[in-house]
Amino acid sequence: MSTRLAAAELLTLRAAWSVDQGNHDDAEIAQAKLYASEMLAFVTDEAIQVFGGMGLMDELPLERMWRDARVERIWDGTSEIQRHIISRAMLRRHGG
Ligand SMILES: Cc1cc2nc3c(=O)[nH]c(=O)nc-3n(C[C@H](O)[C@H](O)[C@H](O)COP(=O)(O)OP(=O)(O)OC[C@H]3O[C@@H](n4cnc5c(N)ncnc54)[C@H](O)[C@@H]3O)c2cc1C
Repeated sequence: MSTRLAAAELLTLRAAWSVDQGNHDDAEIAQAKLYASEMLAFVTDEAIQVFGGMGLMDELPLERMWRDARVERIWDGTSEIQRHIISRAMLRRHGG
């Protein structure tokens, strides 16, 4: 979980850095959004698993976080659309 969080942060920082440099690549941004939103789904699910049944109770914020995480793979470009952007950029690089 910690490693995936760190990877998402690095992808996000790379995308932000490219934007700052004025030479951003859509695929870099799509990779950051895709990875971070899928990482969030994994990490919130694992966190509930760690706490067992308690993870689903109102006393902890985990179930709410897990539920809130679900929309991240839908809005601002669904995961499938991010994959389209990434694959399109890869094909372009290879003359496609
Ligand atoms: C809580 C919430 C708040 C929102 N707020 C805003 C907002 O403020 N502003 C705004 O503009 N929009 C907002 N949206 C809308 C959001 O951007 C759309 O839900 C999102 O773009 C997906 O479109 P859709 O729901 O029409 O799904 P669809 O486009 O119908 O997609 C359904 C499924 O098919 C897949 N799919 C679609 N096309 C392809 C394709 N070509 N190849 C492969 N798979 C495909 C999708 O990935 C998805 O899994 C919000 C949505 C939610 C849930």
